[in-house]
Amino acid sequence: MKIRNFKLKLIFSYIFIIIISFGFVAFLLERNLEDNSFNNIKSSLINQALLVENQITAERVKKEDTGYLCPLVTSLGQKIKCRITIINKLGKVLADSEKPQGEILQMESHLYRPEVIMALAGTIGVDARYSSTLKKDMLYTALPIKENEEIIGAVRLALPLESVEKTLGEIKKAVLHGLIFAIVLAFVLGTTIAARTIRLINRIIRASRKFSKGDFSSRIIQSSNDEIGELAVTLNQMAQDIEDKIKQVKARDQKLGAIFNSMIEGVIVIDKAGQIVSVNPSIEKIFGILNKDAAGKSFLEAIRNSDIAQIVSAVLEKGKPLSNEIAFIYPVRRVFEVNATPIFDNNLISGCLAVVHDITEIRRLETIRRDFVANVSHELKTPLTSIKGFVETLLEGALDDKENNRNFLKIIQAHSERLNSLVEDLLSLSHLESKEITLNKKSFDLRLLLEEVISGVKSQLKKMNIEIRNDIPAGIGVAADKDRISQVFTNLIDNAVKFNKKNGFIRIYAQEVSGKIKVYVEDSGIGIPEKDVLRIFERFYRVDKARSRELGGTGLGLSIVKHIVELHSGSVGVESIEGFGSKFWFILPK
Ligand code: ADP
Repeated sequence: MKIRNFKLKLIFSYIFIIIISFGFVAFLLERNLEDNSFNNIKSSLINQALLVENQITAERVKKEDTGYLCPLVTSLGQKIKCRITIINKLGKVLADSEKPQGEILQMESHLYRPEVIMALAGTIGVDARYSSTLKKDMLYTALPIKENEEIIGAVRLALPLESVEKTLGEIKKAVLHGLIFAIVLAFVLGTTIAARTIRLINRIIRASRKFSKGDFSSRIIQSSNDEIGELAVTLNQMAQDIEDKIKQVKARDQKLGAIFNSMIEGVIVIDKAGQIVSVNPSIEKIFGILNKDAAGKSFLEAIRNSDIAQIVSAVLEKGKPLSNEIAFIYPVRRVFEVNATPIFDNNLISGCLAVVHDITEIRRLETIRRDFVANVSHELKTPLTSIKGFVETLLEGALDDKENNRNFLKIIQAHSERLNSLVEDLLSLSHLESKEITLNKKSFDLRLLLEEVISGVKSQLKKMNIEIRNDIPAGIGVAADKDRISQVFTNLIDNAVKFNKKNGFIRIYAQEVSGKIKVYVEDSGIGIPEKDVLRIFERFYRVDKARSRELGGTGLGLSIVKHIVELHSGSVGVESIEGFGSKFWFILPK
């Protein structure tokens, strides 16, 4: 619609300019030509009048000799194609080339015709007016007829003004033709220019429509060097810039999205109305909701945790970051740290970002560490207190008590040994836990290693009369750190002896399970209560603390076993029936 308007506007502007110009030209031409033609005719008529006046003898006029004058003016009038009239000084018409002689005397007096008045006054009379006699516009000139400087009458020449009008009419016709030609030219030129311009503008419009729909891939073909061409270049440049910017934003969006989705911490984006904009997969896992279900809902409706909701609403209200620790009791106890930060847009709070960090494990480890320190202190304190007590007793005089002093020293020795083994176990445990540990892996025969370990505990076995059987088949080899596996056997056999009954047995055997070697250490001892089975691999965990201490245990033996086996990418476990014995096992790669 607009484009058609443009075409019409252009054509109408052309036509308007043409009409105005032509009108002006026609107006000037008409005025000048009319004046010019009129003056030319006037001067030629005056000249002719002078010639005619020469032909007329004053005497005939004086005598009013119409018989002579009439044929003369008729013949002269035919020759010069003019109306010739002779008037005497009283205004009486004596002859007229357009009237027969008989009608002359009836003609009215011409005394008051303007040109006649002027001629009779001695000047050249000129007048243009409508002739009622000939019924057309006429130009009249009159000259005085003189005899010896005395004016005796006037000769008057009249010419129809038709020729002037005819000339003007022809000029007007030419101007009109010119006008029509110019209008047709304007129309053709306007249509061509408009069509070309519209074609270029259409290209721009088509591309702009695509741009407005977000498709910045197309470009405008630039085929002119004028302002439209420049517009096309500018639009192309703009599209290129926007396309580049969109690509950058998309790339940044993807990166942010990837970070958002892969974050271990849960992230919740909330708008200023307290409604959820988005949550990441970690939040989906923590709260068991889906992003698509949560988006658009109010915080409490979607997350159902009033502690976090309170933090979020405080942040939205005050615009200051807040963090707090919250705990879930159900279904399992979990501890979270919530950090909520306001999001600002032009210095106004536009939302809040809440980051939920699961710190259950950190808190658990902290508890373990605290318990461990407390346990170590306690374990060290008991023997140290005893040693201190007995040393004091000895110093206060018991040294001379020959019956007991040896006993006291033996007790001090026992406690020192206990302290020593405790420190040794702690050192090896801390060494196993440190990241620097390297395993000296070698292939060796498991049965032979066990033989060596058994020979080291022979005296202990004898005391309790315990029978031990090495049932590991010959030739079973494992690739492991031999010294450490030897420690595993030592600790397990040591326990199997300590917690065995008199005349009991210990049996060690192995079997291959899915490409790995599973080793069992079975005893006929006191067994482990069901409630303790899961915990005995913990540091310092003992079923019966007093008995363990009495037997020189530190409560760290099984922890060390577990660490060594796990360092070999293996696993440990126990099956036990209280009162009937235990079966410890560990798995090693072949
Ligand atoms: P300890 O120095 O007390 O032996 P361990 O870590 O080796 O420490 O063992 C932890 C606890 O596990 C022991 O105190 C004991 O209660 C239990 N335990 C270990 N081995 C056996 C076993 N063979 N039979 C019965 N109880 C055992």
